[in-house]
Amino acid sequence: MDRHLDITVWSFGFDTAKLRGGACNFTQRRITLSRYLAARWDMYDIEQTLLHEIAHAMLDPGHNHSREWLALARSIGYVGGTTHRAETATEFARWRGVCPAGHDVLRYRTPKNTRVSCSKCSSRFDPRALIRWEQLR
Ligand SMILES: [Zn+2]
Ligand SMILES: [Zn+2]
Repeated sequence: MDRHLDITVWSFGFDTAKLRGGACNFTQRRITLSRYLAARWDMYDIEQTLLHEIAHAMLDPGHNHSREWLALARSIGYVGGTTHRAETATEFARWRGVCPAGHDVLRYRTPKNTRVSCSKCSSRFDPRALIRWEQLR
């Protein structure tokens, strides 16, 4: 990663996402990989997903999977298409919620009601399973 990005600005870490493999958070300037998926991948998949996210980080957030993004990604060694098989459209979710048990919820729009509880933990509203939201971009 330090070959392509200023590592005094960008950091790397693992997250607990299960729906997507990698993410690039422009607000926190942080690239994360899913610890669940990374544990099952080989080094090649991990490297490809990192290169995919690094290319996002080298451009402005608005680029998404533009042609400039793809050209840049290819130039640093990424061989996939606009989405690596390890990555899904959920990468561009604006909000992520996490319940106390660690379940992930992704939203493309600002949640209307932020006092929601995790549907995996409880089928009815349960304040003990309240979701904590964070804005991703
Ligand atoms: Zn992407
Ligand atoms: Zn839950």
